[in-house]
Amino acid sequence: MHEVKKDGILFHRFDHLGHCDRLCHGVFTRQGGVSAPPFDSLNVADGLGDAPAHVRENRQRILRATGGTDLMWMRQVHGTRVHIAEKGAATGTPVADALITAIPGLLLVVQVADCQPVLLYDPRRHIAAGVHSGWKGSVANILGRTVAGMISEFGCRPADILAGIGPSLGPCCAEFRHYQTELPEAFRSYKGPRSHFDFWAISVDQLCRAGLQKDNIEVQKVCTRCHDDRYFSYRAEKITGRFAAVIGLSPPQPT
Ligand SMILES: [Zn+2]
Repeated sequence: MHEVKKDGILFHRFDHLGHCDRLCHGVFTRQGGVSAPPFDSLNVADGLGDAPAHVRENRQRILRATGGTDLMWMRQVHGTRVHIAEKGAATGTPVADALITAIPGLLLVVQVADCQPVLLYDPRRHIAAGVHSGWKGSVANILGRTVAGMISEFGCRPADILAGIGPSLGPCCAEFRHYQTELPEAFRSYKGPRSHFDFWAISVDQLCRAGLQKDNIEVQKVCTRCHDDRYFSYRAEKITGRFAAVIGLSPPQPT
């Protein structure tokens, strides 16, 4: 992971994705925007009570900093739907928890406050995907479903796919008191002391089971709840904003 500062906004890039020259991506913090508390300041989500003009400005800032042409959003519902953004049909906001695209310049946005933003890229086929994986997404294996979509729709080879897992609830804070009813038996091996679970390890294993190479998976290992000064955290603050993780193919170069 390395830090980038562009247009006055500080964000992070995964090291392996940062080396791909036809890719734009960034994992933002809550800093560098215009929203007032409790959405201070780089809140990118509408519908939470933040001023629409502030959300619009914040979205412009992440688009400028990442360097794409358009942002594509999804209405995240902790479901299992993987949406393929196709040429000419890129407008609108699909109900989905994962987006995949091959369209240059179109940046896919994942909005989170404790859930995992997971960015995927196949540098051989030039296919990018953004995934919202909360605990329900982990249970439903939304990551495996997204990789399956990259394979079936675009012919990706999972061994080529690079993955980055952004700031989210760490094993320090992912407490599930009702884990016996909420989480499957298969997650028990990820349980630490008390009722805390390592969802980062769950995601790494789900990606490996989908065929990714472990060396191609970078985990930022920053817990949002422990760092709620830097990231929005629903568990820490309840009424709060969402920060963005963004990925897409670079816009076509002017000739
Ligand atoms: Zn924590």
